[in-house]
Amino acid sequence: VPASKLIDGKGIADTIRSEIAAEVAAMKAETGLTPGLAVVLVGARKDSETYVRSKKKACAEVGFDSFGTDLPADVSEEELLKHISEKRILDAISIDKDVDGFHPLNIGCLAMRGRDPLFVPCTPKGCIELLERLHVPIAGRKACVIGRSNIVGMPAALLLQRRDATVTMVHSKTPDAARICAEADIVIAACGVTEMVKGEWIKPGAVVIDVGINAKDDPTAKKGYRLVGDVDFEAAGARASLITPVPGGVGPMTIAMLLQNTLESARRAAQGIKAP
Ligand code: NDP
Repeated sequence: VPASKLIDGKGIADTIRSEIAAEVAAMKAETGLTPGLAVVLVGARKDSETYVRSKKKACAEVGFDSFGTDLPADVSEEELLKHISEKRILDAISIDKDVDGFHPLNIGCLAMRGRDPLFVPCTPKGCIELLERLHVPIAGRKACVIGRSNIVGMPAALLLQRRDATVTMVHSKTPDAARICAEADIVIAACGVTEMVKGEWIKPGAVVIDVGINAKDDPTAKKGYRLVGDVDFEAAGARASLITPVPGGVGPMTIAMLLQNTLESARRAAQGIKAP
């Protein structure tokens, strides 16, 4: 895929992070307050541990405090985990601090006309930020979102719709996903299936945002695998006008958006603004 078609998520995320660092410095100087991010990690999933490590590093780089609480994942803890309800946990988070944007009130506001959520989920927000920073027109365009999870696909579709795209959502029960996708000017792939979106799925000139992070066996790689997306990168890149690589596309944007949401939360707290 030629460099001119590549969406440099890492570079754009770096720019956003330096913008945030400057704002944090200004906030500290003006108010004496330092934004902070608290992460509660339950269990010992490798991917979650990696994500939390990069969150802490990113916080330090922009001048945030970060606090971590790791709950052990020994057998009895895992036993306990079975009793933890994702629903109850999300309901317990104060919506003023819901920097992941997963609270049902924030998702509800995202879905309603005339309402604005306090926070938008980081990964889909990062996808839209890429489109906007690259001046990709969204209004009036056809968009296809592949996947409908609460954390990526569903909010991505809502965000595109709020920007006046005509959105089709494709999921595991959708017949003829390839034909639907091939009509889209903008494709956001978040199905978690290695390289599922083939070249023929892409309308010539479409913009492709690949959210997927999958390990693919590769005997030539040092670790024996490499990371690939939900899109067949070479084949789709041959037809797309712009495409995100994996890694280096959406991934870095997710963390940048988490920092942005955290800064926004701190700013509201500093101004004494509380959710109504
Ligand atoms: P989920 O597994 O929660 O959701 C996957 C969605 O894709 C579901 O809606 C599912 O449909 C749909 N789907 C699964 N198989 C197919 C298929 N064969 N055809 C069409 N649709 C299908 O995944 P997430 O949304 O959490 O994550 C998606 C991908 O994005 C993963 O690869 C994940 O690793 C990656 N990710 C990357 C992030 C980043 O920062 N870059 C952050 C978060 C996730 P149904 O609803 O019918 O089951």
